[in-house]
Amino acid sequence: CGIVGYVGSQSALDVVVAGLKRLEYRGYDSAGVAVLADGGMAAAKKAGKLANLEKELVERPLPTGSTGIGHTRWATHGGPTDANAHPHLDNAGRVAVVHNGIIENFAALRAELAERGHELTSETDTEVVAHLLAEEFSACADLAEAMRLVCRRLEGAFTLVAAHADEPDAVVGARRNSPLVVGVGEGEAFLASDVAAFIAHTRSAIELGQDQVVELRRDGVSVTGFDGRPAEVRSFHVDWDVSA
Ligand code: GLU
Repeated sequence: CGIVGYVGSQSALDVVVAGLKRLEYRGYDSAGVAVLADGGMAAAKKAGKLANLEKELVERPLPTGSTGIGHTRWATHGGPTDANAHPHLDNAGRVAVVHNGIIENFAALRAELAERGHELTSETDTEVVAHLLAEEFSACADLAEAMRLVCRRLEGAFTLVAAHADEPDAVVGARRNSPLVVGVGEGEAFLASDVAAFIAHTRSAIELGQDQVVELRRDGVSVTGFDGRPAEVRSFHVDWDVSA
């Protein structure tokens, strides 16, 4: 339902949780975050309000890192449980993904992954993406390319945001029939389903087009189509006031 991604020099956890709070008005049933730190991926997710997640983060703190993603979920496939909350990780725990929308062909992809030995641990349509990204990344070692390859296999409406422990200074996003905006700051960049999530940090934004993948790094963003061709970047300035 709500998505936030961050790469920069601030604490990614602080930026992502604050961003998720700005998206709370949309309604949700669970929340979760993942942060890249100390060469690994650390994640926390909880059914219920963001306050539950914040309590979990106090009881079991995540290491501090400056690349992270977060999600508030409105369940469509699988009940609102901790296990079904996003982010979803691959079996090695190296890649994390959050998703808005529905992946229509998830059942076929699940069966295919199970046959190749992947263990899926949730009831969501989303989890297949984490496993597919892990497979593609292990072949190409490029998260944006892995995302493009995976997106070409997905049917349905989706916004996806992912991070990989082997590419700790990048966050990658993709969209088809579901919104995703980029915020460009000084030495930092944001991804969100709604500009409200990053308006406190930057008003310089890029609207992602249909079937596009964006790669965020501290020093800039690059956008391509799912086919890998560079895409025209549609920049705009957020000059309206966002309340809440
Ligand atoms: N279909 C996904 C799920 O049920 C994403 C739902 C959403 O948009 O929050 O987990």
